[in-house]
Amino acid sequence: MSEKSLFTRIIDREIPAEIVFEDDLCIAIRDVNPQAPLHVLVIPKQPVTKISDGDSGDAGLFGHLLLTAADIASREGHEDFRLVINNGAGAGQSVFHLHVHVLAGRGLGWPPG
Ligand code: AMP
Repeated sequence: MSEKSLFTRIIDREIPAEIVFEDDLCIAIRDVNPQAPLHVLVIPKQPVTKISDGDSGDAGLFGHLLLTAADIASREGHEDFRLVINNGAGAGQSVFHLHVHVLAGRGLGWPPG
């Protein structure tokens, strides 16, 4: 059996995290190294490595992650926010278990770094 990802270990409560939301499909935690006043990660419980590994069968799950991310930003009082998915090491992915970054609470420049 392949080794559990860091985020699966958080989902399984083997590693502590500040959980802000959880349902049958996903968990949302505060990022341990926040890049904005609000920085939450929305993580599917199913250990998809990266979004490019998904297919049409994942459309419901991926849609749920985005809607959950937007709902968390809204519930935390942010009308303006950014959702980020880093896909692959060259794009900045460091944890190989899909997650949506929810960033808000400061000016967010464009283009991103
Ligand atoms: P990425 O670079 O897109 O793969 O994002 C991984 C994110 O996970 C980074 O923003 C890290 O700060 C965050 N992270 C790493 N370890 C933890 C942890 N134990 N709890 C919460 N966030 C974490």
